[in-house]
Amino acid sequence: MRKSIIVVGSGVAGMTAALEAADAYDVTLFTKADLAQSNTRYAQGGVAVVIDAMSDPGAPHLGDTIESHVGDTLVAGAGLSDEDTVRILCAEGPEAIDELIARGVPFDRHDGELSHGLEAAHTYARILHAGGDATGAGIAYALIDRLRESTVTIRERTTVVDVIVEAGQAVGVRLLDGEDVRADSVILATGGAGQLFPYTTNPEVATADGLGMALRAGAVAADLEFYQFHPTSLDAPGNFLISEAVRGEGATLIDVDGKRFMLDVHPDAELAPRDVVARGIAAQMAKQPGIPVRLDATALGAEFLAKRFPNIDAACRAQGFDWGEVPIPVTPAAHYYMGGIRTDEWGRTSIPGLYAVGEAACNGLHGANRLASNSLLEGAVYGTRVIEGLNDPAPLAEFDSDWTAPIALDLADDPDGDDVNRSDLQQLMWDAAGLSRNGEDLERALATLSEWRAPVATDAKSAEDANLLVVARAVVASAMARRESRGGHYRTDFPESDPAQAKHSSIAPQHA
Ligand SMILES: Cc1cc2nc3c(=O)[nH]c(=O)nc-3n(C[C@H](O)[C@H](O)[C@H](O)COP(=O)(O)OP(=O)(O)OC[C@H]3O[C@@H](n4cnc5c(N)ncnc54)[C@H](O)[C@@H]3O)c2cc1C
Repeated sequence: MRKSIIVVGSGVAGMTAALEAADAYDVTLFTKADLAQSNTRYAQGGVAVVIDAMSDPGAPHLGDTIESHVGDTLVAGAGLSDEDTVRILCAEGPEAIDELIARGVPFDRHDGELSHGLEAAHTYARILHAGGDATGAGIAYALIDRLRESTVTIRERTTVVDVIVEAGQAVGVRLLDGEDVRADSVILATGGAGQLFPYTTNPEVATADGLGMALRAGAVAADLEFYQFHPTSLDAPGNFLISEAVRGEGATLIDVDGKRFMLDVHPDAELAPRDVVARGIAAQMAKQPGIPVRLDATALGAEFLAKRFPNIDAACRAQGFDWGEVPIPVTPAAHYYMGGIRTDEWGRTSIPGLYAVGEAACNGLHGANRLASNSLLEGAVYGTRVIEGLNDPAPLAEFDSDWTAPIALDLADDPDGDDVNRSDLQQLMWDAAGLSRNGEDLERALATLSEWRAPVATDAKSAEDANLLVVARAVVASAMARRESRGGHYRTDFPESDPAQAKHSSIAPQHA
């Protein structure tokens, strides 16, 4: 009899895993909205890969090497990336992208040759894109087409609320309506956690469900203090990402009086490193509460903006902003989660039978900060590997010296507490565990979070809120434990990196 697999999530990681498994296993894929609702669908810029090593006949030779991609990724990770998982990503990336092309992903080409761009912190112009800046949609819709043609059982608009663990082994999942579905293996590919914060580039489905479920099931999570914030998103519903290239073309950031506040923050002003600009904006927002900071691109002219940035132009206009004439409100926004369910290089978690891949997982590859365009590649590479690894279902190995022993996470709710309110939680996380953190605020935030109660999962939103609460506590506890600044974790009370703390953190529920 064929073995069965449950895949939770329909982003690049989940769909790749489901398609890889379809020939050898009975696969059921659950996704809580329609198949296209995912972070993957909204990815813009592209996917990084050593194009020279691809088999596609249109792959140009750029002189790029696996070593170079590995090196760039390690630098971005701020001393914390796990070199083995980075090497796997970069070495297996070219084949994974050839496979995406075979599955119908329409990467942009010029005269048959794959078009490719350069991005900050990449040594070579190794970024493939589709539909200009609609790369994620190109990937998502091609994989959806293949999935619909496959033997995979697809259950859309079906929220998974828990992983079922019996005798220490994952044996299935529980759905919102109470149905239990059993399988030999469960793969969580539930994506990111942007909805922990009031401002995020992530869509509404990014509520850290997989991480919440895994923690409740007793799994170990890792690096939860590391979150990447993008400096500029449109301060309007959906927080559409306003690319750094707009500032690169000369747009400036201004305060309530029309003054360029970044000049006082860093010699490079608006073109300072991403995290410096993001923190500069957040600090200015705190100084002028209720009044957004603005990005002034008016000097560039409406005609230029429409031609150079057609998608941003359309997004601004859809929200009623004529950015060629009037400065637009912007805010930093939670963008990418480096932390997640701890896995090894085969997606194995600390619970036998339970696997995690993509943004929901943390195998240490991104370290303290992600190199741009590596996350779509991660979904394609590790979505494939997780299926290869099913032949050896041993759980994650013990911790080695690159990881801290798990800190204890208290999952108990205050029985007299109020049900958590999502907007209150998001604001608390923004203020205490956002771009700048400090010990006192984090301690106060943890106390408040432990006074709130997870609601009973009667509908999709309450199920999500329960996950957000568990994960918020885990993020804050992890941020308290790291008494240094590194990558996506900045503490005003410990502003420097400390070589003695250059280890991955891990956290596990107290009862585990
Ligand atoms: C605006 C934006 C731009 C980006 N640009 C880039 C880029 O240019 N290059 C790059 O590499 N990365 C980019 N990223 C990051 C990248 O898109 C993601 O990291 C990646 O797509 C994550 O893929 P995934 O498969 O792990 O998760 P996702 O694509 O987020 O998929 C998660 C899936 O799980 C489902 N799900 C969640 N919880 C449940 C539940 N309880 N029950 C059932 N289903 C559930 C969701 O509905 C969704 O289908 C961008 C992200 C955003 C938001």
